[in-house]
Amino acid sequence: MGNERIQHIKSSNELKGDYILYWMQQSQRITFNYALNLGIILSNLHGIPLVVYFGLTEDYPDANQRHYKFMLEGLAYLKHKFVQMGIKFVIYRTSPEVGCIKLMQNASHLIMDTGYTRIQKIWKQTVVENALKISTLNILEVESDVMVPVRLASEKEEYAARTIRPKIIAQIEAYISKPKDIFPYYRSLHFEIKTDMEEIKAPMEMLDVLKLDRTVSLTNRFIGGEDEAIKAFHEFIHYRLPNYLQRNHPEFDYCSYLSPYLHFGHISPVKILYHIQKLLKTSPELEEPAQSFIEEVVVRRELAINFVNYNEHYDDFHYMTYAWAYDSMLMHKDDSRDYLYTLSEFEQYQTHDIYWNTAMKEMVHTGFMHTYMRMYWCKKIIEWSPDYETAYDIALYLNNKYFLDGRDPNSYAGIAWCFGKHDRAWTERPVFGKLRYMNANGLKRKFDIDKYVEKINALTEGD
Ligand SMILES: Cc1cc2nc3c(=O)[nH]c(=O)nc-3n(C[C@H](O)[C@H](O)[C@H](O)COP(=O)(O)OP(=O)(O)OC[C@H]3O[C@@H](n4cnc5c(N)ncnc54)[C@H](O)[C@@H]3O)c2cc1C
Repeated sequence: MGNERIQHIKSSNELKGDYILYWMQQSQRITFNYALNLGIILSNLHGIPLVVYFGLTEDYPDANQRHYKFMLEGLAYLKHKFVQMGIKFVIYRTSPEVGCIKLMQNASHLIMDTGYTRIQKIWKQTVVENALKISTLNILEVESDVMVPVRLASEKEEYAARTIRPKIIAQIEAYISKPKDIFPYYRSLHFEIKTDMEEIKAPMEMLDVLKLDRTVSLTNRFIGGEDEAIKAFHEFIHYRLPNYLQRNHPEFDYCSYLSPYLHFGHISPVKILYHIQKLLKTSPELEEPAQSFIEEVVVRRELAINFVNYNEHYDDFHYMTYAWAYDSMLMHKDDSRDYLYTLSEFEQYQTHDIYWNTAMKEMVHTGFMHTYMRMYWCKKIIEWSPDYETAYDIALYLNNKYFLDGRDPNSYAGIAWCFGKHDRAWTERPVFGKLRYMNANGLKRKFDIDKYVEKINALTEGD
């Protein structure tokens, strides 16, 4: 394993405890999960059983039943897999840090995976503060959901893709190895844990039981889980990767559709790259589309993570973008807008623009929106809102409410990008100032955009 993925937060000379605890929260999968691998290695080494824990909270910010269904499908798959592996996997109905603090009292080691958003950092900080008080506990954190560990890719907030790209590309080779298949010698399946927490044995049954926001419909366009993620990835590399250079065409389906799986940690970018490299050995003609995909799934994605990791105001309109963008917005704040819509008109896709309405419909009904249309969608919210801050709030609200991949570092970076972040200043124009501008004529010129409308109408028919 790449040891650079591991941070030793605290080591103890004493080995005391009934089990090794892996608190799984970000990396909701078995394969290419370096934290899980470390747990198995330590269990085998010390002859102590491994217990894997997941805390299921009903209060995750902005999450609703659509997101929960996808996550529960993934947890149901894990329940089944861990039984096969002989490893005890417990899901408690509690806030993740609360359950972890209780379980770590009797553990020799606490292993955590890594998430980068505020709520994930708050949970981790609370756990670590409490864990440091247990003198015999070994505390380790492992990063498996990025190609290059964030602090090693860069120690600061990067300005743009061009500044982080060379730093990441130079290190990819060092981090691309496949973790060894290690099997646990000590079966922990029947290990008894005494606790007052409510254990969830059948995750899917919880969908109707949990106190969730049910105002957003469920979607069957994506099924959650590592098995589904792997299936989606293989379908992508075999059938769509050859055409990936045309991924920007909303009328086609050449993108990977992996973002919901990456968001929930159902697949690791390291696994993705490992298999792409293998594929290129036998299919060198795929080099160009593969490099283009790597640019998105590694460089752009890890730029977004860099942003969220180093900029504590990543979701605050007043701090998320650059001075030139704020100056420009200030200059154009009183420009007259040809159209103005309310949140409810946006949400019910009732604008004058059929392409925008179709994109919004795709989002509301299916939990996804084509990549190119996401840019167009947010740019138009800027153009049709009374002011920039309202536009930001509407875009972020809708993004996180409807997208299965919402509430991700990519969500905050994607919306900030529409306000100039990681972009450059463009020619001055009304309302947008120096922010990049997009219009419907561009869609008509570049794509068969009416075919996109037909595609989404067919996809959402009967909903
Ligand atoms: C306004 C706006 C909002 C967005 N909101 C989200 C969001 O909530 N969640 C989300 O995951 N992505 C978001 N994105 C980024 C991007 O549009 C999606 O990741 C992509 O459309 C997902 O489709 P895919 O998996 O088929 O992409 P592919 O083209 O197949 O790319 C593969 C992977 O690369 C990453 N990626 C692709 N484009 C970008 C990008 N521009 N920035 C960072 N990473 C990228 C994603 O992880 C994606 O799954 C947003 C972009 C914009 C402009």
